[in-house]
Amino acid sequence: MRIDIITALPSLLHSPLSDSIMQRAQDKGIVNINIHDLRQYSEDKHKRIDDYAFGGGAGMVMRPEPLARCIESLKTGADYDEIIYMSPDGKRFDQKHANKLSTCRALMIICGHYKGIDERIRQRYVSMEISIGDFVLSGGELPAAVLTDAVVRLLPGVLNDETSALTDSFQDDLLAPPVYTRPAHFEGMDVPEILTSGNTPAIEQWRLEEAMRRTRERRPDLWKRFQGGGDGDENK
Ligand code: SAH
Repeated sequence: MRIDIITALPSLLHSPLSDSIMQRAQDKGIVNINIHDLRQYSEDKHKRIDDYAFGGGAGMVMRPEPLARCIESLKTGADYDEIIYMSPDGKRFDQKHANKLSTCRALMIICGHYKGIDERIRQRYVSMEISIGDFVLSGGELPAAVLTDAVVRLLPGVLNDETSALTDSFQDDLLAPPVYTRPAHFEGMDVPEILTSGNTPAIEQWRLEEAMRRTRERRPDLWKRFQGGGDGDENK
């Protein structure tokens, strides 16, 4: 898979995408993540990429030309499945989005700043708008890193234990069950006996029950969906 991220602040993205699992995925050649500095596409002598909003009001807007130039230039090198704009008014990101995007071959992600990007870029180029939650951050870089991480860890070969992503929260509409490691006794608290029994089917059953209990207690919306009740998902 190939992921191209357009940003005015490349350094904000380097660190989250160049460590641990994200770096390993790139080293293994499973994903090719390229970070593009939008200022390089500005023809302004001060490399400015923003300007005042038409109609007045507080806050700057990202100019369309550098973005269009960067997008056009990237499009000559790849056939993108989606051109994604990270935006608080987009669709709220969830595991289903991540699963779907993990089947793509090439993604372009645009990070906004200030008041956002000129609307005409959204109309002309963007095929998908994604929010990572109902709050406003100062830039699209952290959201882009969140999306990239969630997608890349699902690509075959990225996680050491191939089945690990399948038992995480939200796959199957359930939260994950509690997990324990050594020591078996810690400050007066013991690991549930079943987990040290070696009885794999019983352990699987225990995990399923715990996952169901957790989901029921913490996320009635997911619980409803898991039970097949349908509309626990207000984000459809
Ligand atoms: N004026 C905009 C917010 C701009 S925030 C509004 O009210 O909707 C600046 C940039 O940060 C956005 O262009 C977007 O790329 C990014 N951003 C901020 N919050 C985000 C969120 N919750 N999800 C995704 N991107 C976000």
